[in-house]
Amino acid sequence: MTALELINLVTQLMFIGLFLAALPRAVQVRSRASLDTLLLFGSVASVLLIAAGARWLGIESNPALTASILVLLALAPVAMVRLVDDFRGQPAWVTWAAYLGFVLVAVLSFTTLSTAERPVEIALIGFFGVVGGYAALAFAAESRRSRGITRRRMAAVALGAALFVGAIVLLLLGALVPSFGTLLDIVTQLAALGSVLAFWLGFLPPAWVRRTLREPELRRFIDRSTHIAGVGDDRDALPVMQAAVADAFGATGASIGIADPDRPVLRYVTAATGDWIEYPADGFIAGRAFTANRSIVYLDAPGADPENADTYRGAGAVTALATPIRRGGQRLGVLVVYARREPIFTEDDVTLLELLADQVGILLETRRLVREVAAVSAREETARMKEEFLASAAHDLRSPLTVVLGQAEILERRVLRDPERPVDAAGVSRMARGARRLRDLVNTLLDAQRLEHGGLGIARHPVDLGEVLGEIDEHLREEGRPIALTAVDRPLVALVDRARIAQVVMNLVENARKYGADGGEPAVEVTADEREVRVAVIDHGIGIPDGERERIFERFYRATNAQRVTDTGLGLGLYICRRIVEEHGGTIRHEATPGGGSTFVATLPLIEQAAPAAPVDDLSVVPGPPFVGEAPADA
Ligand code: ADP
Repeated sequence: MTALELINLVTQLMFIGLFLAALPRAVQVRSRASLDTLLLFGSVASVLLIAAGARWLGIESNPALTASILVLLALAPVAMVRLVDDFRGQPAWVTWAAYLGFVLVAVLSFTTLSTAERPVEIALIGFFGVVGGYAALAFAAESRRSRGITRRRMAAVALGAALFVGAIVLLLLGALVPSFGTLLDIVTQLAALGSVLAFWLGFLPPAWVRRTLREPELRRFIDRSTHIAGVGDDRDALPVMQAAVADAFGATGASIGIADPDRPVLRYVTAATGDWIEYPADGFIAGRAFTANRSIVYLDAPGADPENADTYRGAGAVTALATPIRRGGQRLGVLVVYARREPIFTEDDVTLLELLADQVGILLETRRLVREVAAVSAREETARMKEEFLASAAHDLRSPLTVVLGQAEILERRVLRDPERPVDAAGVSRMARGARRLRDLVNTLLDAQRLEHGGLGIARHPVDLGEVLGEIDEHLREEGRPIALTAVDRPLVALVDRARIAQVVMNLVENARKYGADGGEPAVEVTADEREVRVAVIDHGIGIPDGERERIFERFYRATNAQRVTDTGLGLGLYICRRIVEEHGGTIRHEATPGGGSTFVATLPLIEQAAPAAPVDDLSVVPGPPFVGEAPADA
């Protein structure tokens, strides 16, 4: 046996083998694609078997037999065109044109049985070239369009189709022009061998090839999705995993349903809004796979689950595969992939889906553990902060209490000893200051507690903020603790709780003094446009370390550099300030002062004034003290 004969034999046996492998699948699955695959390999295998039988019987030159063989062979391009339709769809006329071409070839085969020129071979070359060539190109285009494992399978099918068409055309040419000789023979045989190998890989690959085809997809899935193991909300993480799964398959989409531990529902993230949506735990293919605890395949999802047909169609889910997501014997949810078309080899897709479901399970489990760890450390952090808070609260309360008590005892002694003696005015003032400081601390604690249980109960009225700031400025100057106020020369009317806004400004000014440069006057700069007013309280003190700018607005949080300056402070002032400002529809943030220090910027929306020149009185601005009892006073 020559090498060429050996190649020929191997090729033929492989085509027959492919037919035998496609047969049980077509019987089992009975989908159009599996039947068309059977038609393709059946046509080639039957041609080979009949030709071998005829040779064995010595009747290979029977014209009717030759015509039948050619007709059977012409079925192959028809099957290929149908497969194109199965895998990617095409206009109906294309399929019908292929049928028409086939009928013409068949008629020609039998009507020219005894014609010496054999026009049917020429017609067949044309038929294979055009119809088979179209199918090969269509598969190639589909491969370029697809992603993931589908892309590689389609590429193999396209290559198989192209080599198959080439081999048949060369074979027919060789029969027409025998003088082409051995070289043509070699090329033909090699093309035929190449085609059967490519078809094998594309349609019915052996296990090791399947693993090799799957491996890059698994790797890519892991690459794309492991970074979400520990971060963010499930509503952000699930779409990432879904996209990675869909890409691994080259599918239209994928969805992950999360089982609720307490109720029989599966929860999904909706693509449009990113919100959670629930479905009964046995609804749709997903629910059935979850409930049955095994993989389920719907080649025609709308047909298999008619109740939900519209939903499937709306999602572009004709074929759907679902598998439960399990971890340590527990069902965490379900993974579904769906596509507009049937996949080439479904069993293998199921295996890939199960592998990906394992990965998704690992990711979900990891995310749960990370969340638990974070919750534990958050609890520890809260406990630590509360401890620090108690220590500093006790300290903060004790200092003014010591002053008040000390002064009271001195006064008491003096009065008892010498009732006629004039009252010590300075001592009484010190006592009053200490008592005010105590009152402020208690108010702060009460505010923080109220905020924990709802809001502060804000009463809003139109107020001229310029006036409020002016009053604060005056008050502080009288106390001998002036600020440098840069105001705006027009009414700045906002709908606010006057006392609360004054409380915010006072708090920022007190902080600027506490953490600012020694002796420096805090600067308060007011700017405004039509819509909002911006109040900046500026100091040149210790500033806030990077990374803590947001945290200082948390309850009890004190910046790491604050302890150096003072150990008084509850870490509640800014927390309360932010809540007050936000309840007024404004914002508050910290910026670094150029050259060092802090700038706290609060913004508040202004009332849109129809007539800009309207006197403030017309808006019934509430006059009154800038801070009613609640504002921090001096220590
Ligand atoms: P505290 O009672 O500790 O001052 P606050 O809520 O008012 O509480 O402030 C929270 C923390 O923010 C302070 O402990 C301090 O670390 C930091 N902070 C506030 N204002 C300033 C400022 N002007 N300069 C630097 N750090 C500041």
